[in-house]
Amino acid sequence: MTVVTRFAPSPTGSLHVGGARTALFCLLHARKHDGRFLLRIEDTDRARSTEESTRGILRDLEWLGLLWDEGPGKDLGRGPYFQSQRLDRYTALLEELQARGVVYEAWDSREELMAMRAEAQAEKRDFRYRQRQVSPEQVASYKAEGRVPVLRLKAPDHDVHVHDEVLGQVTVTVDHLEDIVVRKADGFPTYHFAVVVDDHDMLVSQIMRGQEHLMNTPKHLGLMEVLGWEPPKFGHLPLIFNPDNSKMSKRDKAKAARAAMRAAKTERGAGDWAWLAEDSGVAVESLLRFAKKKSDDIPTAEAIAACLDVELPMIEVLDFWKGGFVPEAVVNYLALLGWNPGAEADGTEREIFSLDELIERWDLGRIGKTNAKFDVTKLRWMNGEHLRNAPWEVVSQHLNRWFEVVTSPLQELPEPKLREIFELFAPRVHTFVELEQATGWLRIAPNEYDSKAVKKWLLKGGGADNLQAVRAVIASAEWTLDGLEAAVKGFAETQGVGLGKVAQPLRVAISGSAATPGLWECLGLLERDDVLARIDRLLQHLAAL
Ligand code: GLU
Repeated sequence: MTVVTRFAPSPTGSLHVGGARTALFCLLHARKHDGRFLLRIEDTDRARSTEESTRGILRDLEWLGLLWDEGPGKDLGRGPYFQSQRLDRYTALLEELQARGVVYEAWDSREELMAMRAEAQAEKRDFRYRQRQVSPEQVASYKAEGRVPVLRLKAPDHDVHVHDEVLGQVTVTVDHLEDIVVRKADGFPTYHFAVVVDDHDMLVSQIMRGQEHLMNTPKHLGLMEVLGWEPPKFGHLPLIFNPDNSKMSKRDKAKAARAAMRAAKTERGAGDWAWLAEDSGVAVESLLRFAKKKSDDIPTAEAIAACLDVELPMIEVLDFWKGGFVPEAVVNYLALLGWNPGAEADGTEREIFSLDELIERWDLGRIGKTNAKFDVTKLRWMNGEHLRNAPWEVVSQHLNRWFEVVTSPLQELPEPKLREIFELFAPRVHTFVELEQATGWLRIAPNEYDSKAVKKWLLKGGGADNLQAVRAVIASAEWTLDGLEAAVKGFAETQGVGLGKVAQPLRVAISGSAATPGLWECLGLLERDDVLARIDRLLQHLAAL
């Protein structure tokens, strides 16, 4: 049987780390077994699903290189792959189940359901919905009130066992099962119903999804039993935690923005938040709702953070894209988030893998049972490794994709110059954002100097005099790497001073600090007049001390 895995996001937001990891594991498993990786958009929540979110998810998957074999744009005859376009299929099946008497109409109002829950809570028992007897007269009065029923499926009358490929056997006893809603009052199927139908219709053989879905699986197995369908295999993936042991969540951005609001309130008073509304462009009412945790809206969090100058945690794939990471590194890191690639033949542990190498190594049996921890420092390191190992053609493509989502002064540079700069700085940076920061002085002459470097290299050991004297050499040197090297080295020799005593003051003059890549290359990237002006500027700065 062909192995078919699927990633089935609900388009209610952007693709985040957890979703991307699920998609990756599904792709790895399918490719390893020469199977199919399917993508399906679960947009039955009409209020929360948006086309913008769908577009974002497809774009982010494509950026990561997690390309689906079947799904939107790749119809292999089992589509459509958007649940909102499959309503006829669900309706027909629901009618069949209704005719068989295994689903029933439930008329409870929201208030009645809340009261039932409250009663269960007061009696310290879990609330499990079970069918209530309703007389035809009651039904008539509900109808007269304008109520619309939902359809519920009768729960299995026996314990349900989930044979999980990661967690082992998980049993849910019959007293924990309830009659789940399969069709909502708006006529749309619930997630539970649509997911089961689609996984069956689309021949999915292996479901992999986050552990937060584990307790949905008994519900799905109950449905499959009623429908007479063979269940696929299941594997629930470990949850992803932050380094501080909190569960990683999209809400973390809102939390960080709220903390910044609290700090700003202490510092300058909230007033009626009118000042923040003005600075951020977010309406006062929205700010208040946000501050009171009534909304976790990400664009609001981002607007607040930009005004208050705080960095939000990176959680969405787009954050890493904008953050100047390369997709190979993100994929590599995500693969190790809850999966162990196994040791090398010589017993050492390797961490850097390409997608093909990950496929080669893939073994579902090595998915972890315990929570995974997301460590952005590790990812940053990994990104540096991938950046340095990639050929320029690949780096250049990634830079161009980065320019699609950010505005960077680096995009003004002609490609040969960009390449020269990248190759020079690559050993010192981990991301494109760091590249932009580390090369800021190439674009704008420093107007501040690292005081430690000034003290060590200019105020001591005749550094300022050497700088003054080497200026003339710079003024007449041949402006090539060899010419600059010969001129500056020759000068140090004739003066009888170590090269460092000339080179370090020059570095401070051109960049503001003594830590630059190769001096000749750095000088060569600037114009002669610019270098001379920078030397003069530092000399003036020293004179004024
Ligand atoms: N649409 C569900 C979600 O985004 C998919 C769950 C599943 O994989 O079954 O959480």
